[in-house]
Amino acid sequence: MEPEIIKTSYSALDTFKQCPLKYKFQQIDKIKAPKSKEAIFGNKIHKTLQYFHSTQPISPTLDELLNYLKDIWPEKEENIFLDEQEDMIYFSEAIKILRNYYNHYLKIKDKSTVIDIETRFEVLLEKPPEKCLLRGIIDRIDKTADGIEIIDYKTTKRLPSQQDIDNSLQLSLYCLGLINRWPKFVEQGLEKIKLTFYYLKHQETISTRRTKEQLNDIQEQIWERLAEIEKSDFKPIPSALCGWCGYKNLCPMWKHKYSEQRTVNSEQINKIIEEFLELKKNNQKNNKRLIELKQIINNYLDKEKLERIFGDIGYITRLSLTRYEYELEKIKEILEPLGKWQDVLAVDSIKLKNLIKTLSYSIRKQIEKAKKIDKEYKILKASVKKKKREKS
Ligand code: SF4
Repeated sequence: MEPEIIKTSYSALDTFKQCPLKYKFQQIDKIKAPKSKEAIFGNKIHKTLQYFHSTQPISPTLDELLNYLKDIWPEKEENIFLDEQEDMIYFSEAIKILRNYYNHYLKIKDKSTVIDIETRFEVLLEKPPEKCLLRGIIDRIDKTADGIEIIDYKTTKRLPSQQDIDNSLQLSLYCLGLINRWPKFVEQGLEKIKLTFYYLKHQETISTRRTKEQLNDIQEQIWERLAEIEKSDFKPIPSALCGWCGYKNLCPMWKHKYSEQRTVNSEQINKIIEEFLELKKNNQKNNKRLIELKQIINNYLDKEKLERIFGDIGYITRLSLTRYEYELEKIKEILEPLGKWQDVLAVDSIKLKNLIKTLSYSIRKQIEKAKKIDKEYKILKASVKKKKREKS
């Protein structure tokens, strides 16, 4: 029997990466979750821009564009925003984005032509006997003077680095989707396909391109992600993105916040948390002050040409220490025959992590395969609640 075709999308794969438990709730258990206000805000902007480009060759005026937004803006009864003030903040932001977009588009409209919007695509990946059908939607495709540009609108605040964009799985998939739908574009050469994220809040675009090798790598990455999903135990990964997650009331990471037990033990737990946070805060303050005091003492010792100073309750000595660097090749020659070389080899994991980001996918994969669990442990991470306006 032929194996079933796996059907997925970039957004599902991305959800798994963000939080496997969220993926399980959404894709496996098929639990519907309310959309966050940021998601609704993004949808309204996307819809308005879709309207803007759907009337080509005569685009709507700015007033028509803003009126369209007003018409589709969430009704008050939908209860998305905390209060009228919050509704106003989001609405003004949306107006600002659309005004800027409109003015920007006026400047570039003679240099490029929108050839499609909200383009649905499918990419069939085959790794016999398995097949995977990836679906997605590209916000906008332009014909430019030197090729084709795929544009994806973003309403996020955070601007990623060029490196993030160069490694973006989403843009690689869109590139595959475009090639699949219009194979003639690839005949002109992949360098003719520009891939762009358009950050609407900043009016910034960040672009990249893909090589054939990168597109092959991406297929590998997708199969790997699918294999990870297959063997996953769907552990939650809490992050800042929990704020946008509609499954918080089902999530073990948020269980205490919503549980009755919290009300029963809240006084005792509150005291422990307060004390813990206070101590952490003091630690930070102390560390900062220690650095300042060291500077003052060092300056005094230098000025007075001293190496030790005395106070009523003790004294402080400045010691000269020397840190040596070894010639690794020579040390290796000595230790290797003794079978001791491996004992002193230690990789600086922070340096390695930073280096990995700059490497190609195939090298990253080789390094990933060389990774094994050293030890598993738990840490306590303290977070201080931001002051939030309460719904009246
Ligand atoms: S609330 Fe956070 S940790 Fe829980 S499922 Fe959602 S994203 Fe994952």
